[in-house]
Amino acid sequence: MVKLRKRDVQRLARSLRFRLMVSYALLFLIMLMGTAVVFRARLASELRTSADNTLNEQWAAIKGAYLRIEPTLELDNKYGANWYYDAEDVEETTQVLNLKKVYLIADANGNPIPEVIPDSTAHPPSVSATYDDLGRPSPAEIRKYVASARKQAAPPLFSVRWSSKGEPFSLRSGLLWDERHQEPFYVSIGVSLTKNQKILRDYTWAAFVVVIPLALILASLLGWIMAGRALTPVREVAQAAQRVSGSNLSLRIPTREAGDELDYLILTFNRMTERLESSFQQMKQFSTDVSHELRTPITAIRGQLEVALFTAKTTDQYREAMFNALQDIDRLSQIVRALLLLSQAESGQLVLQKTPVDLGETVRDLVEQFQIPAEAAGVRLTAGIEPDCLAAVDRVQFERMITNLLSNAFKFTPEGGNVRVRVERSEGHVNVVVEDTGCGIPPEHLPHIFDRFYRVTGSGTAPTAEQGLGLGLSFVAWIAKAHGSEVAVDSTPGKGTRFTIKLPTEPAETGALELTGQPAAS
Ligand code: ADP
Repeated sequence: MVKLRKRDVQRLARSLRFRLMVSYALLFLIMLMGTAVVFRARLASELRTSADNTLNEQWAAIKGAYLRIEPTLELDNKYGANWYYDAEDVEETTQVLNLKKVYLIADANGNPIPEVIPDSTAHPPSVSATYDDLGRPSPAEIRKYVASARKQAAPPLFSVRWSSKGEPFSLRSGLLWDERHQEPFYVSIGVSLTKNQKILRDYTWAAFVVVIPLALILASLLGWIMAGRALTPVREVAQAAQRVSGSNLSLRIPTREAGDELDYLILTFNRMTERLESSFQQMKQFSTDVSHELRTPITAIRGQLEVALFTAKTTDQYREAMFNALQDIDRLSQIVRALLLLSQAESGQLVLQKTPVDLGETVRDLVEQFQIPAEAAGVRLTAGIEPDCLAAVDRVQFERMITNLLSNAFKFTPEGGNVRVRVERSEGHVNVVVEDTGCGIPPEHLPHIFDRFYRVTGSGTAPTAEQGLGLGLSFVAWIAKAHGSEVAVDSTPGKGTRFTIKLPTEPAETGALELTGQPAAS
């Protein structure tokens, strides 16, 4: 049970939907975190500026209105800090009390100066308890600051210190002058940053602990739903692919007409099944054709032998039956030889030995060999050969290709007709053309003539020796393809046929080529 659950989790983790959701959520998290961090830094800087502004305002109030540092009679003309404000005015009193929460006023030696309190003989040092708690600068530090600030107008010093309770304060320190006697005093005031810190802490908590995790959960949910929707067609394709089997190859998945990548996937899948279907069809057709081709001569041989056995009486009758049977056996072995060659070509066992061959000379030799049968058939055979038609070909296969084309030309050209072979050079190619003034091929048959066992004439009827096996052009197409070329055919019924093969002068990559399915017609 536990094992099963673990496997389910693993499968889920590997699923594209889950991974898409995680990527989506991660992206969202990075964006949210980035925004929150930037926003926090901005908020902190704003709060710091606002604290500094408050300190600047307080400083201006001290300097301009509430505090005067001057020699005082009560202190035997020594300097004292006098706070001037209307004690009846609640607002002023509150402001001064507020100012005096965190403050220090020291002379140039670094010692706090006494404070003058109206109607009182007490003169406490001008330093608040809170300031003391934050840690007073030592007299030496103050002396150093005063000395340097005296020489050149020093900017105010801003710093942050923590009280013993851990409360942060922002301090502003600088010089205040007794203008009359040109005497400098070190004054430092501060404001609590607790409120600012709380604002920042509240923001951090809200953003990082509440908003971001919630948004992340929402984003993951949304990502899960969106990924699920996006992947639905993929699932459909997969289910359809599972339904496809050898007997069910006509199945096509309907496209969604969205014109997107998934439609493209569906189209590609459909084309693949289409090709598979046609290959299956061709294989079936091939087996049917082969068994038919083999059965016909076998039936004929059987018939001949039966005639000989049951009805022949004279030696001549026996001889005739034997002769006919032998002819059929010849045809049978012709078919078997051709099939063997085809299967060798298909399995890649037929390796081409390409060498530079003068195609013109080779064709001239073949034309010479064909002159006698041509004369016998009453057909004029001529050749138009350009010199130096060199190309890298397998001589044996090339000769087989031309022989097949020439045999066909004679087979389908009546007495008095012409057969012409041309070998011509063109840019990077040698063109070999075999043309005749024979019966021609009707256009509807043209796409099929390179198919195995395809014959234009005699279809449906028993093939005669004249009609051949229907394998010749399959070989021609295969040999051309193995030489990096194609066979172009141009035919007009009643006028004649022209086959053109454009052989590259440079050797093609394919030494041995697999012949899959039917060779393509040109
Ligand atoms: P076959 O062994 O029957 O000649 P091929 O594969 O060589 O088989 O040719 C297929 C069919 O193409 C032939 O049966 C014939 O009908 C047609 N064909 C081939 N060459 C010619 C041609 N030169 N003129 C007319 N028809 C041709």
